[in-house]
Order: sequence, then C-alpha cells, then structure tokens
Amino acid sequence: MAAYTEARQVIKDITTYAKKVKDSEMLSKIIDLQSNIIDMHEENQELKDQIRDVRDQLAKVSENLIDRERLAKFHDMFVDEDKLKYIETSPKPYTDALLEHMYCPRCLQKDEKLISMGKNDDYGNEVYGLICPVCGFSTWFGNNPNLGSVSTF
Ligand SMILES: [Zn+2]
Repeated sequence: MAAYTEARQVIKDITTYAKKVKDSEMLSKIIDLQSNIIDMHEENQELKDQIRDVRDQLAKVSENLIDRERLAKFHDMFVDEDKLKYIETSPKPYTDALLEHMYCPRCLQKDEKLISMGKNDDYGNEVYGLICPVCGFSTWFGNNPNLGSVSTF
C-alpha cells in the first residue's frame, strides 16, 4: 500500500512538471502510467485475497489431517494402534466401545475421515459382519479360516 501511495505522489510531481514545461506527450504518457498503476493495484489486491483464501484452506487441511502413525491395520480395517492387542484378543461380537476404535479403510483413503465401523446383521449367525455407516464398505469374520476372513463388496 505504501508503494502505491508513493507512486501516486511521483506521478503527481511529474504531472506538475509536465504541465510546467507544457509537454502534452509526457502528460498523455502519465495518464497511461496512472491507469497501469491502478490495474496493478487491483491485481495486487486480488492476489492478496487469493493468498488469504489459500492460507485458510491450508489451515483447514492440516486441522483435519489424520495422524496415521497411531493407526494399525487389522483385517481390512484400520484400528487405533494402542487398542490393536485388545481388539485381536477380544471375542466377537465386539462391544460398541471397541467398534469406536475400528475404522473404515475406504473413508480414510478417499476422504481422510475416520469413520467407526458398525455391526452388520445381514449375514445372519454364520458370520460376524461389520459395515461402514457412511460408504457401505463391509468386512466379515467367518468360522472357516479357509474361506478367508474378509470380504468386501
Ligand atoms: Zn466408509
């Protein structure tokens, strides 16, 4: 802003001089210069606004960034690492409190969101299923290990 004010003062001084020496060509060049400076000032303002917006977005992104260091893989899901041992040894069905610490991998990879898995009753009693309440990603645990313990659709 200070540079803009200074430039305006210089133009004013040159205008006074051009009028004094009656140089019409110089006066017309000064008018061009004035309009260029106004354009640059506006462009500068727009850039400042854009920088502010980008800074705001950046702050938001780093706020939402998930600390993957504290997550561990369990079957197809991500779980809080400090709960991994507990989850591995817990009998099924898992308690709601434990499901809070088990997250949908699709929502994490796609949207950087930690969405806790919920119980999926669609499979009946044969298998114990979990489903993401947001995207529908599902995984299940069966009795026969040869069938594989995880499936998705
Ligand atoms: Zn999901």
